[in-house]
Amino acid sequence: MSEVTSLDNPALGELCEQLARLSPGLDAPGEWPAEQLQMCGEAGVFRWFAPEAWGGWAWSEEQLLRGYIRLAEACLTTTFVITQRMGAVGRILAGDSQFARETLLPDLVAGHTFATVGISHLTTSRQHETKPVLRAEETANGFVLEGYSPWVTGASAAQHIVLGGTLASGDQILVALPTDLPGVKIEAPPPLVALSASQTGSVQLRQVQVERRWLLAGPTPQVMKQGAARTGGLQTSALAVGLASAAIDYLERQAEQRVGLASPAAALAEERDELTRDLIEHAAGRPGCSADELRTRANSLALRSTQAALVAAKGAGYVAGHAAGRWCREALFFLVWSCPQPVAEANLCELAGLGFGGEQQA
Ligand SMILES: Cc1cc2nc3c(=O)[nH]c(=O)nc-3n(C[C@H](O)[C@H](O)[C@H](O)COP(=O)(O)OP(=O)(O)OC[C@H]3O[C@@H](n4cnc5c(N)ncnc54)[C@H](O)[C@@H]3O)c2cc1C
Repeated sequence: MSEVTSLDNPALGELCEQLARLSPGLDAPGEWPAEQLQMCGEAGVFRWFAPEAWGGWAWSEEQLLRGYIRLAEACLTTTFVITQRMGAVGRILAGDSQFARETLLPDLVAGHTFATVGISHLTTSRQHETKPVLRAEETANGFVLEGYSPWVTGASAAQHIVLGGTLASGDQILVALPTDLPGVKIEAPPPLVALSASQTGSVQLRQVQVERRWLLAGPTPQVMKQGAARTGGLQTSALAVGLASAAIDYLERQAEQRVGLASPAAALAEERDELTRDLIEHAAGRPGCSADELRTRANSLALRSTQAALVAAKGAGYVAGHAAGRWCREALFFLVWSCPQPVAEANLCELAGLGFGGEQQA
């Protein structure tokens, strides 16, 4: 696999072709995109995200978003796994532990090891429960962790999980948890509506002792809102646009032979192009609207364009194995993945026919 050193490098097209060719196979039970991730590693995809000091190519936000859109169009599952991997890398890079950086980053950037994140219980998951689901207690040498992280993608493939915990005071920490520590139990991932090959499930922690050298951030209130460890990027929207693009391309190809499909395909393509422009402008520091508004539009476009592809594919698209049916299932993911409350509310309003903002439509 040749290295994808820039967006106009033909190697990106070759990588995407390979990912698209392999992506239907990921729908089978028990799959994990090992081959796809290896191809991405060999193509230098993990170097896009890292600074030059750590062997990376330090792509700009704009380049990264465009790269994510291309990859997601080819294979959403692999690209989603990459986001979780890069989420972990980003937090290790920005964290307080030089030890973690020096120990983990060279192999992660080169694609030799895998890391992931278990942080949703600090922000979106289990917020209605009275007690934090993953509790941390400070000791002389570090922290003891007890409880569980409900959602961790690819935990069984990971040597480290960037994991959040909450102390009795309410302060939170982030650690780069070695998965081979005593007391760490990776549960068998449940089958999902789509993206099952992301091998996402819960990780249990029973009196797990983590040394202080693995502490990336905290203890502090709302650790996910601190410094470079913030959540709420544009990448989730980029992935939704990528999936929508796969469906719109299919619709456009069908429209070449079927007159009735031409104007819906053109309208969706125009909406995709406008949303892509707005995302890129936002990434370049010229936001025309909020990141939540972009995500709301991206979710809506992913849902509508994949269902439009199913309409065009008709009954054949409803047979298991057809890409249109898979895209529809994959689009549902964006309704639940790292979905901020205002976005969830706007999507609900749209589904209820109230428009994005809750205003009654004519
Ligand atoms: C495929 C997939 C992969 C993911 N990968 C990762 C990952 O790698 N790392 C990561 O950190 N996160 C990950 N997530 C988590 C994701 O980003 C969201 O945090 C998660 O989808 C939120 O859903 P939840 O069921 O945990 O929400 P919760 O809010 O915990 O809801 C769970 C259930 O609790 C009940 N409930 C919810 N709110 C209330 C309330 N106010 N009152 C009473 N009952 C309530 C409902 O019955 C609901 O079904 C992943 C999620 C998915 C689906």
